Amino acid sequence: MAMAPPSESPVRVPAILVHGGAGADPGDGRDELRAGVAAAARAGWRAFADGGRALDAVEASVRTLEDHPRFNAGRGSVLTSAGTVEMDASIMDGERLACGAVAAVSRVANPVTLARRVMEDERHVLLVADGAHAFARAVGLPECDPATLVTDRQRARLAAHAAGRGGTVGAVAVDRHGAVAAATSTGGMVGKHPGRVGDSALIGCGTYADSRLGAVSCTGAGEAIIRVVLARRALDLLQETDDAERAARLAVDLLVKDGRGDGGLILVDARGRVGFAHSTPLMPVAWMMPTLDAPRVPF
Ligand code: ASP
Repeated sequence: MAMAPPSESPVRVPAILVHGGAGADPGDGRDELRAGVAAAARAGWRAFADGGRALDAVEASVRTLEDHPRFNAGRGSVLTSAGTVEMDASIMDGERLACGAVAAVSRVANPVTLARRVMEDERHVLLVADGAHAFARAVGLPECDPATLVTDRQRARLAAHAAGRGGTVGAVAVDRHGAVAAATSTGGMVGKHPGRVGDSALIGCGTYADSRLGAVSCTGAGEAIIRVVLARRALDLLQETDDAERAARLAVDLLVKDGRGDGGLILVDARGRVGFAHSTPLMPVAWMMPTLDAPRVPF
């Protein structure tokens, strides 16, 4: 189905939608999660106000959540079975189908920014582990001590053999020019095997953006998301249905049935219509668009 160009319905753009992970555990801190995703939506919105494009907005939002210790990305990432942090992140610019990603990185505070640098360098799409750290040094991104990323909360979760993931983070945006972008960042799964890479580093699985259609960021059981190439499939469903909410729901059904796993995703189409869905009990989301005075935080 052909979709109308963004210029036909300008009131919905720009728009930014963020998530704080389908495995988010509210514990006693639901308000903290709400405040965290709202702050991330505001950071993306500010990027637009400063003249930024969709790509700048998703990077700003994801950085905010990477810096927040309650989410499973950057500081606060879940730990591997060896007690270490290994993070995955990716970013995609829907204007040029340009993309960048990093996997199993432990020495950068903001993996989404490193992923963006990989994208902008244009030679490669995905850099991993020490090669990614060397690239970070070469492009002048500050190195951080991996110990600063480890929180007591995540040490305790590993010690308790807590299964699951925690709050992976992501953002999708469309700017006033109708360009879309998506970004995702995570510490992965609690107690994962060192070296395990999930969907969040894989373009088409955890992240995808195409300005002719929309942008998607996924969260949940990474192996299941990879099995069904979820982010790209969600955009196919968007093209078929021309309905962002319905496409998100159908994509999550696909994840559960064919992927045999749970999770969720956020989606924005090129006209600024937002959709999200999850098969897990909680996936914090927040969004901003021109019709709102403050981020909408519906959980
Ligand atoms: N998808 C992430 C991974 O498998 C985890 C999550 O989203 O909670 O690494």
